[in-house]
Amino acid sequence: MTPSSTIKTRFPPSPTGTLHVGGARTALFSWLVARRAGGHFILRIEDTDQARNVPGGAEAIIRDLKWLGLDWDEGPYLQSQRLDIYAKHIQKLLDAGHAYYAFETAEELDVLRKQAQEAKQAFRYPRPDPLPTAADADRARSAGKPVVVRLKCPSQAVTVEDEVFGEVQVAADQMDDFVICKANGYPTYHLANVVDDALMGINFILRGQEFLGQTWRHIVLRQALGYPQPRYAHLPLILDMQGKKLSKRDADVDVHSFRRAGFLPEALVNFIVLLGWSPGDNREKFSLAQLREVFDVADIGKSNARFDLEKLRAFNTDACADAAPDRLLTAFKDYLSLNDTPIPADDDNLLAQVLEVCKGFRTFADIPAKVGVLFQADADFEYDTKAVKKVLRKNDAAGFAVLAQLREVLSKCDWQHEILEACINDYCRTKELSMGQVAQPIRVAVTGRTVSPQIIDTLMILGHDKTLARIDRCLDLPR
Ligand code: GLU
Repeated sequence: MTPSSTIKTRFPPSPTGTLHVGGARTALFSWLVARRAGGHFILRIEDTDQARNVPGGAEAIIRDLKWLGLDWDEGPYLQSQRLDIYAKHIQKLLDAGHAYYAFETAEELDVLRKQAQEAKQAFRYPRPDPLPTAADADRARSAGKPVVVRLKCPSQAVTVEDEVFGEVQVAADQMDDFVICKANGYPTYHLANVVDDALMGINFILRGQEFLGQTWRHIVLRQALGYPQPRYAHLPLILDMQGKKLSKRDADVDVHSFRRAGFLPEALVNFIVLLGWSPGDNREKFSLAQLREVFDVADIGKSNARFDLEKLRAFNTDACADAAPDRLLTAFKDYLSLNDTPIPADDDNLLAQVLEVCKGFRTFADIPAKVGVLFQADADFEYDTKAVKKVLRKNDAAGFAVLAQLREVLSKCDWQHEILEACINDYCRTKELSMGQVAQPIRVAVTGRTVSPQIIDTLMILGHDKTLARIDRCLDLPR
């Protein structure tokens, strides 16, 4: 047992989709609050909505949280394995007179909703008097009616004390008797969420602003169950650069997409933490370890956060430049394992060389774009006809002539950086040619185009045999 003064936070995702940036922020903030306070962080999978669960959803969320560097002290708990606990609580609320059965069909509820609409009133479920008994519920069930359980809402206003948004008043006429148990016997999200938070000792709840309008339900449920109220902090909305709410359904803002697109988790974490939080001193660069020292709920703002992909790219560029070589290599191999690129992932020395040569890249995806051609089968890459014309064919095929001579020079060279450099420099001097006049024909011959990493680096990655084979293939092109 943890002492009740210990801060306990949780992340309770529903496995109805992937872990997107908004969810990752809730997880990160909740984790940071717990870690900073020396408290506990719990992972709970809210998988009671059978129809909306996606297969493998929970596993994918867990994978993504781990990739971000988050860990948990308890869990993952699965709500689907706790159904008897919710059933007991629902029964307790019925027995205490805090909840009651209702059995309208969807069509009947629709009629009531329409009536409210016509009368220009907000729909509130009309609580029957007297309340239906268990026997009434049984009869309704036998008659094929959907039997749900509704919570009796209090007749006085409820105040949500939120640590970000302040006091939020919910008037009595804004609340209605909401469903806590569905017709299939499953608890609703509200019931299961509140029961678990209470039983798991969660005393600080952080979640997105979109839940703020529902929090009164959790407060009244806790009151009815006799549980103490936790602290609440709702996190501001995240908008895209066009000012639209970032949607859970935007596949490109899910954590795994960023991983596959070649971002480092440390850059993503640093970017995500600034979506609504700022330490107030213009400092923007933080590692997870530093965040554990400085993160404070008091520094979470109310204003909408902006999801600025360019900023994330800039963070990633810096994070890659700052990463230790081993760290970068591991992350790059992870990137390669998730993508279909011509770069082989099994030769660490070669990959380290590639990373060095591509230094300054923004995401790992820039690397295959830049050097992928060096790993394609020699006969597979295409020659850019414009490049061939400009660099090789022009001036009576002067470039081809240089290339033919260079083939001889290179064929006798030992394949070491300094030696290659010396051979090519020698050749330039003897022929009174500039490095550009010599490097470009080789570049076009071995990559098919006019842009590649520095020429010696390019040749080092290619190796002796591939370089010569490609030059031969080029020399066979029609002049
Ligand atoms: N299962 C809910 C969701 O993923 C959790 C909401 C909450 O934090 O209470 O949306």
